[in-house]
Amino acid sequence: MVVMKTALVLGAGGFIGGHMVRRLLDEGYKVTGVDIKPLVDWYQTHIDINKEYMSRDKFDLRDSNRVGVLIKATHYDEVYQLAADMGGAGYIFTGEHDADIMHNSASINLNMAYAIAKWSRKTKVFYSSSACIYPEYNQTDPENPNCAEDSAYPAQPDSEYGWEKLFSEHLWRSYARNYGLDVRIARFHNIFGPYGSWDDGKEKAPAAMCRKALTARDQGEMEVWGDGQQTRSFLYIDECIEGVRRLMESPVETVLNIGSDEMIKINDLAKMALDISGKEVLIKNIPGPQGVRGRNSDNHLIYQLLHWKPSMPLVEGMKITFNWIKDQYESKV
Ligand code: NAD
Repeated sequence: MVVMKTALVLGAGGFIGGHMVRRLLDEGYKVTGVDIKPLVDWYQTHIDINKEYMSRDKFDLRDSNRVGVLIKATHYDEVYQLAADMGGAGYIFTGEHDADIMHNSASINLNMAYAIAKWSRKTKVFYSSSACIYPEYNQTDPENPNCAEDSAYPAQPDSEYGWEKLFSEHLWRSYARNYGLDVRIARFHNIFGPYGSWDDGKEKAPAAMCRKALTARDQGEMEVWGDGQQTRSFLYIDECIEGVRRLMESPVETVLNIGSDEMIKINDLAKMALDISGKEVLIKNIPGPQGVRGRNSDNHLIYQLLHWKPSMPLVEGMKITFNWIKDQYESKV
Protein backbone atom coordinates (compact mmCIF):
# COMPACT_ATOMS: atom_id res chain seq x y z
CA MET A 1 0.00 0.00 0.00
CA VAL A 2 1.30 3.46 -0.94
CA VAL A 3 1.21 5.81 2.06
CA MET A 4 0.20 9.32 1.07
CA LYS A 5 2.42 12.11 2.33
CA THR A 6 0.58 14.82 4.25
CA ALA A 7 1.15 18.55 4.00
CA LEU A 8 -0.21 21.57 5.84
CA VAL A 9 -0.19 24.76 3.78
CA LEU A 10 -0.49 27.97 5.82
CA GLY A 11 -1.80 30.92 3.86
CA ALA A 12 -3.49 28.51 1.44
CA GLY A 13 -5.93 31.19 0.29
CA GLY A 14 -3.05 33.43 -0.78
CA PHE A 15 -1.29 33.65 -4.10
CA ILE A 16 1.68 31.35 -3.49
CA GLY A 17 -0.22 29.16 -1.01
CA GLY A 18 -2.94 28.43 -3.59
CA HIS A 19 -0.40 27.37 -6.19
CA MET A 20 1.44 25.30 -3.58
CA VAL A 21 -1.73 23.41 -2.64
CA ARG A 22 -2.40 22.60 -6.26
CA ARG A 23 1.15 21.40 -6.89
CA LEU A 24 1.18 19.19 -3.79
CA LEU A 25 -2.17 17.65 -4.73
CA ASP A 26 -0.83 16.97 -8.23
CA GLU A 27 2.14 15.22 -6.63
CA GLY A 28 -0.24 13.00 -4.67
CA TYR A 29 -0.06 14.63 -1.25
CA LYS A 30 -2.99 14.77 1.12
CA VAL A 31 -3.24 18.51 1.80
CA THR A 32 -4.80 20.67 4.49
CA GLY A 33 -4.98 24.37 3.66
CA VAL A 34 -5.35 27.02 6.37
CA ASP A 35 -6.20 30.67 5.94
CA ILE A 36 -7.86 33.50 7.85
CA LYS A 37 -9.94 34.21 4.74
CA PRO A 38 -13.05 32.30 3.70
CA LEU A 39 -11.77 29.86 1.09
CA VAL A 40 -14.96 29.03 -0.81
CA ASP A 41 -14.21 30.93 -4.04
CA TRP A 42 -10.63 29.90 -3.97
CA TYR A 43 -11.58 26.26 -3.38
CA GLN A 44 -13.89 26.26 -6.39
CA THR A 45 -11.29 27.68 -8.75
CA HIS A 46 -8.24 25.77 -7.56
CA ILE A 47 -9.19 22.33 -6.45
CA ASP A 48 -10.20 19.17 -8.21
CA ILE A 49 -12.76 17.78 -5.76
CA ASN A 50 -11.51 14.26 -6.33
CA LYS A 51 -8.19 15.13 -4.74
CA GLU A 52 -7.37 14.72 -1.04
CA TYR A 53 -7.90 18.27 0.14
CA MET A 54 -9.28 19.70 3.34
CA SER A 55 -9.65 23.38 4.05
CA ARG A 56 -9.59 25.12 7.43
CA ASP A 57 -10.71 28.60 6.57
CA LYS A 58 -11.42 31.62 8.78
CA PHE A 59 -8.58 30.24 10.88
CA ASP A 60 -6.48 32.90 12.58
CA LEU A 61 -2.91 31.65 13.00
CA ARG A 62 -2.24 34.51 15.47
CA ASP A 63 -4.33 32.53 17.96
CA SER A 64 -1.82 30.35 19.81
CA ASN A 65 -4.49 28.07 21.29
CA ARG A 66 -5.98 27.23 17.90
CA VAL A 67 -2.51 26.69 16.42
CA GLY A 68 -1.69 24.33 19.30
CA VAL A 69 -4.83 22.29 18.70
CA LEU A 70 -4.18 22.18 14.93
CA ILE A 71 -0.66 20.82 15.32
CA LYS A 72 -1.41 18.50 18.25
CA ALA A 73 -4.41 16.88 16.57
CA THR A 74 -2.77 15.67 13.35
CA HIS A 75 0.75 14.84 12.26
CA TYR A 76 1.80 16.47 8.97
CA ASP A 77 4.90 15.30 7.16
CA GLU A 78 5.49 18.80 5.81
CA VAL A 79 4.37 22.32 6.71
CA TYR A 80 4.61 25.16 4.18
CA GLN A 81 4.55 28.44 6.15
CA LEU A 82 3.34 30.96 3.57
CA ALA A 83 0.96 32.96 5.75
CA ALA A 84 1.93 36.59 6.31
CA ASP A 85 0.53 40.09 6.39
CA MET A 86 2.00 41.43 3.18
CA GLY A 87 1.45 43.25 -0.11
CA GLY A 88 3.24 45.27 -2.80
CA ALA A 89 5.03 48.62 -2.48
CA GLY A 90 1.72 50.43 -1.92
CA TYR A 91 1.19 48.32 1.22
CA ILE A 92 4.68 47.74 2.60
CA PHE A 93 6.53 51.00 1.89
CA THR A 94 4.01 53.65 2.93
CA GLY A 95 4.63 53.01 6.64
CA GLU A 96 0.89 52.90 7.36
CA HIS A 97 0.77 49.16 8.01
CA ASP A 98 4.09 48.64 9.83
CA ALA A 99 2.71 47.66 13.25
CA ASP A 100 0.20 45.20 11.77
CA ILE A 101 2.77 43.67 9.44
CA MET A 102 5.25 43.09 12.27
CA HIS A 103 2.75 41.92 14.86
CA ASN A 104 0.64 39.69 12.63
CA SER A 105 3.42 37.90 10.77
CA ALA A 106 5.68 37.50 13.82
CA SER A 107 2.75 36.07 15.85
CA ILE A 108 2.04 33.48 13.16
CA ASN A 109 5.68 32.35 13.10
CA LEU A 110 6.06 32.36 16.90
CA ASN A 111 2.91 30.25 17.33
CA MET A 112 3.81 27.77 14.61
CA ALA A 113 7.44 27.25 15.63
CA TYR A 114 6.45 26.75 19.28
CA ALA A 115 3.64 24.31 18.46
CA ILE A 116 5.72 22.24 16.04
CA ALA A 117 8.62 22.04 18.52
CA LYS A 118 6.23 20.96 21.27
CA TRP A 119 4.03 18.47 19.42
CA SER A 120 5.43 17.58 16.02
CA ARG A 121 9.22 17.62 15.81
CA LYS A 122 9.33 15.14 12.92
CA THR A 123 7.49 17.60 10.65
CA LYS A 124 9.63 19.22 7.96
CA VAL A 125 9.03 22.97 7.69
CA PHE A 126 9.35 25.40 4.80
CA TYR A 127 9.49 29.08 5.72
CA SER A 128 9.04 31.80 3.08
CA SER A 129 11.37 34.71 3.72
CA SER A 130 11.93 37.59 1.33
CA ALA A 131 14.47 39.58 -0.67
CA CYS A 132 13.27 42.49 1.49
CA ILE A 133 15.70 41.34 4.21
CA TYR A 134 18.70 42.55 2.17
CA PRO A 135 20.43 45.74 3.37
CA GLU A 136 19.43 48.99 1.74
CA TYR A 137 23.10 50.07 1.44
CA ASN A 138 23.78 47.25 -1.06
CA GLN A 139 20.84 48.25 -3.27
CA THR A 140 21.48 51.91 -4.03
CA ASP A 141 22.95 51.37 -7.52
CA PRO A 142 20.15 50.23 -9.84
CA GLU A 143 22.67 48.56 -12.19
CA ASN A 144 24.62 46.64 -9.50
CA PRO A 145 22.58 45.57 -6.50
CA ASN A 146 24.10 42.91 -4.25
CA CYS A 147 21.63 40.27 -3.01
CA ALA A 148 23.97 37.35 -2.43
CA GLU A 149 22.75 35.32 0.54
CA ASP A 150 25.82 36.16 2.63
CA SER A 151 25.36 39.92 2.10
CA ALA A 152 22.44 40.04 4.56
CA TYR A 153 24.60 41.36 7.44
CA PRO A 154 25.16 43.92 8.89
CA ALA A 155 21.37 44.01 8.54
CA GLN A 156 19.60 47.10 7.28
CA PRO A 157 16.35 46.16 5.53
CA ASP A 158 14.46 49.18 4.18
CA SER A 159 11.06 48.10 5.57
CA GLU A 160 9.56 46.70 8.75
CA TYR A 161 8.31 43.82 6.57
CA GLY A 162 11.98 42.97 5.90
CA TRP A 163 12.89 43.19 9.59
CA GLU A 164 10.08 40.81 10.51
CA LYS A 165 11.25 38.34 7.85
CA LEU A 166 14.78 38.52 9.20
CA PHE A 167 13.52 37.99 12.75
CA SER A 168 11.49 34.98 11.63
CA GLU A 169 14.45 33.48 9.74
CA HIS A 170 16.35 33.65 13.04
CA LEU A 171 13.37 32.27 14.91
CA TRP A 172 13.05 29.19 12.67
CA ARG A 173 16.81 28.64 12.69
CA SER A 174 16.86 28.84 16.50
CA TYR A 175 14.16 26.19 16.69
CA ALA A 176 16.17 24.05 14.26
CA ARG A 177 19.26 24.41 16.47
CA ASN A 178 17.66 24.05 19.90
CA TYR A 179 14.77 21.66 19.21
CA GLY A 180 16.03 19.75 16.17
CA LEU A 181 13.34 21.01 13.77
CA ASP A 182 13.97 20.21 10.11
CA VAL A 183 13.64 23.64 8.46
CA ARG A 184 14.15 24.95 4.93
CA ILE A 185 14.13 28.69 4.24
CA ALA A 186 13.99 30.58 0.94
CA ARG A 187 14.07 34.31 0.26
CA PHE A 188 11.54 34.93 -2.50
CA HIS A 189 12.20 37.73 -4.99
CA ASN A 190 8.97 39.26 -6.41
CA ILE A 191 6.82 36.31 -7.40
CA PHE A 192 4.07 36.96 -9.93
CA GLY A 193 1.51 35.17 -12.07
CA PRO A 194 -2.20 34.25 -12.29
CA TYR A 195 -4.29 34.30 -9.10
CA GLY A 196 -2.13 37.06 -7.58
CA SER A 197 -3.56 40.36 -6.32
CA TRP A 198 -4.15 42.72 -9.24
CA ASP A 199 -6.56 45.44 -8.05
CA ASP A 200 -6.91 45.31 -4.25
CA GLY A 201 -4.04 47.60 -3.20
CA LYS A 202 -1.75 44.64 -2.45
CA GLU A 203 -0.73 43.99 -6.07
CA LYS A 204 2.93 43.89 -7.08
CA ALA A 205 4.52 45.68 -10.03
CA PRO A 206 3.93 43.04 -12.79
CA ALA A 207 0.20 42.76 -12.02
CA ALA A 208 -0.12 46.53 -11.56
CA MET A 209 1.55 47.16 -14.94
CA CYS A 210 -0.67 44.60 -16.65
CA ARG A 211 -3.81 46.17 -15.15
CA LYS A 212 -2.71 49.71 -15.99
CA ALA A 213 -1.84 48.72 -19.57
CA LEU A 214 -5.17 46.98 -19.92
CA THR A 215 -7.17 49.95 -18.67
CA ALA A 216 -5.06 52.70 -20.33
CA ARG A 217 -6.59 54.61 -23.23
CA ASP A 218 -4.81 54.07 -26.55
CA GLN A 219 -2.67 57.22 -27.19
CA GLY A 220 -3.22 58.12 -23.51
CA GLU A 221 -0.93 58.03 -20.46
CA MET A 222 0.04 55.39 -17.93
CA GLU A 223 1.33 56.37 -14.47
CA VAL A 224 4.40 54.62 -13.03
CA TRP A 225 5.72 55.27 -9.51
CA GLY A 226 9.17 56.83 -9.19
CA ASP A 227 11.50 57.82 -12.03
CA GLY A 228 11.14 54.34 -13.54
CA GLN A 229 14.92 53.77 -13.47
CA GLN A 230 14.68 51.59 -10.35
CA THR A 231 15.39 47.93 -11.14
CA ARG A 232 13.88 44.62 -10.02
CA SER A 233 13.62 41.00 -11.11
CA PHE A 234 10.40 39.00 -11.13
CA LEU A 235 9.89 35.25 -10.91
CA TYR A 236 6.96 33.41 -12.45
CA ILE A 237 4.95 31.46 -9.88
CA ASP A 238 5.50 27.95 -11.34
CA GLU A 239 9.26 28.40 -11.09
CA CYS A 240 8.93 29.56 -7.48
CA ILE A 241 6.94 26.46 -6.57
CA GLU A 242 9.46 24.25 -8.36
CA GLY A 243 12.30 25.86 -6.39
CA VAL A 244 10.50 25.34 -3.09
CA ARG A 245 9.79 21.70 -3.83
CA ARG A 246 13.41 21.07 -4.84
CA LEU A 247 14.63 22.76 -1.66
CA MET A 248 12.23 20.70 0.47
CA GLU A 249 13.40 17.47 -1.17
CA SER A 250 17.05 18.39 -0.61
CA PRO A 251 19.18 18.20 2.52
CA VAL A 252 20.14 21.89 2.11
CA GLU A 253 19.58 23.85 5.32
CA THR A 254 21.27 27.02 4.08
CA VAL A 255 18.93 29.95 3.37
CA LEU A 256 18.62 30.36 -0.42
CA ASN A 257 17.32 32.99 -2.82
CA ILE A 258 14.45 31.86 -5.03
CA GLY A 259 14.15 34.49 -7.73
CA SER A 260 14.96 35.39 -11.30
CA ASP A 261 18.21 37.13 -12.22
CA GLU A 262 16.67 38.83 -15.27
CA MET A 263 16.84 42.40 -13.95
CA ILE A 264 14.66 45.07 -15.56
CA LYS A 265 13.98 48.80 -15.07
CA ILE A 266 10.44 49.49 -13.89
CA ASN A 267 9.75 51.70 -16.93
CA ASP A 268 10.84 48.80 -19.16
CA LEU A 269 8.47 46.49 -17.30
CA ALA A 270 5.71 49.03 -18.00
CA LYS A 271 6.72 49.06 -21.70
CA MET A 272 6.64 45.26 -21.73
CA ALA A 273 3.05 45.27 -20.44
CA LEU A 274 2.08 47.94 -22.98
CA ASP A 275 3.66 45.94 -25.83
CA ILE A 276 1.64 42.90 -24.77
CA SER A 277 -1.53 45.01 -24.71
CA GLY A 278 -0.73 46.33 -28.21
CA LYS A 279 -1.43 49.93 -27.14
CA GLU A 280 0.51 53.13 -27.85
CA VAL A 281 0.63 54.81 -24.45
CA LEU A 282 2.94 57.43 -22.90
CA ILE A 283 4.57 56.47 -19.58
CA LYS A 284 4.20 59.23 -16.99
CA ASN A 285 6.49 58.88 -13.94
CA ILE A 286 4.90 60.20 -10.77
CA PRO A 287 5.97 60.28 -7.09
CA GLY A 288 5.07 57.07 -5.24
CA PRO A 289 6.47 54.35 -2.96
CA GLN A 290 9.38 52.56 -4.62
CA GLY A 291 11.53 50.65 -2.13
CA VAL A 292 15.23 50.24 -2.88
CA ARG A 293 16.82 51.58 -6.11
CA GLY A 294 17.93 48.21 -7.41
CA ARG A 295 17.30 44.56 -6.59
CA ASN A 296 18.13 41.35 -8.40
CA SER A 297 18.24 37.73 -7.32
CA ASP A 298 21.74 36.28 -7.00
CA ASN A 299 21.34 32.67 -8.11
CA HIS A 300 24.89 31.39 -7.71
CA LEU A 301 24.28 29.61 -4.41
CA ILE A 302 21.03 27.89 -5.38
CA TYR A 303 22.69 26.66 -8.57
CA GLN A 304 25.70 25.43 -6.64
CA LEU A 305 23.65 23.62 -3.99
CA LEU A 306 20.57 22.42 -5.89
CA HIS A 307 22.01 22.35 -9.45
CA TRP A 308 18.95 24.31 -10.52
CA LYS A 309 17.92 27.88 -11.08
CA PRO A 310 14.84 29.40 -12.70
CA SER A 311 15.09 30.09 -16.42
CA MET A 312 11.72 31.24 -17.78
CA PRO A 313 11.99 34.61 -19.59
CA LEU A 314 10.06 37.42 -17.88
CA VAL A 315 8.08 38.24 -21.01
CA GLU A 316 6.58 34.72 -21.12
CA GLY A 317 5.25 35.02 -17.56
CA MET A 318 4.01 38.56 -18.26
CA LYS A 319 1.97 37.38 -21.26
CA ILE A 320 0.27 34.66 -19.18
CA THR A 321 -0.36 37.10 -16.33
CA PHE A 322 -1.70 39.80 -18.65
CA ASN A 323 -4.19 37.40 -20.20
CA TRP A 324 -5.34 36.18 -16.80
CA ILE A 325 -5.86 39.75 -15.54
CA LYS A 326 -7.67 40.59 -18.79
CA ASP A 327 -10.11 37.73 -18.12
CA GLN A 328 -10.69 38.95 -14.54
CA TYR A 329 -11.18 42.52 -15.68
CA GLU A 330 -13.59 41.61 -18.47
CA SER A 331 -15.67 39.41 -16.19
CA LYS A 332 -16.01 42.39 -13.78
CA VAL A 333 -17.08 45.09 -16.25
P1 NAD B 1 -0.62 36.49 0.05
O1 NAD B 1 -0.90 37.76 0.81
O2 NAD B 1 -1.29 36.28 -1.24
O3 NAD B 1 -0.89 35.23 0.98
C1 NAD B 1 -0.73 35.25 2.36
C2 NAD B 1 -1.93 34.55 2.95
O4 NAD B 1 -1.77 34.51 4.38
C3 NAD B 1 -3.26 35.31 2.68
O5 NAD B 1 -4.20 34.47 2.04
C4 NAD B 1 -3.72 35.72 4.06
O6 NAD B 1 -5.14 35.72 4.20
C5 NAD B 1 -3.05 34.67 4.93
N1 NAD B 1 -2.96 35.15 6.30
C6 NAD B 1 -2.55 36.37 6.73
N2 NAD B 1 -2.68 36.46 8.06
C7 NAD B 1 -3.19 35.28 8.49
C8 NAD B 1 -3.55 34.78 9.75
N3 NAD B 1 -3.42 35.53 10.86
N4 NAD B 1 -4.03 33.52 9.84
C9 NAD B 1 -4.19 32.76 8.73
N5 NAD B 1 -3.86 33.18 7.48
C10 NAD B 1 -3.36 34.44 7.37
O7 NAD B 1 0.98 36.46 -0.11
P2 NAD B 1 1.85 35.57 -1.11
O8 NAD B 1 2.31 36.45 -2.19
O9 NAD B 1 1.14 34.31 -1.41
O10 NAD B 1 3.12 35.27 -0.18
C11 NAD B 1 3.28 34.06 0.52
C12 NAD B 1 4.51 34.14 1.40
O11 NAD B 1 5.66 34.42 0.61
C13 NAD B 1 4.45 35.27 2.45
O12 NAD B 1 5.11 34.85 3.61
C14 NAD B 1 5.22 36.38 1.82
O13 NAD B 1 5.74 37.28 2.77
C15 NAD B 1 6.31 35.61 1.09
N6 NAD B 1 6.88 36.36 -0.02
C16 NAD B 1 6.13 36.59 -1.13
C17 NAD B 1 6.68 37.32 -2.19
C18 NAD B 1 5.89 37.60 -3.44
O14 NAD B 1 6.44 38.21 -4.34
N7 NAD B 1 4.63 37.18 -3.55
C19 NAD B 1 7.99 37.79 -2.10
C20 NAD B 1 8.71 37.54 -0.94
C21 NAD B 1 8.16 36.79 0.09
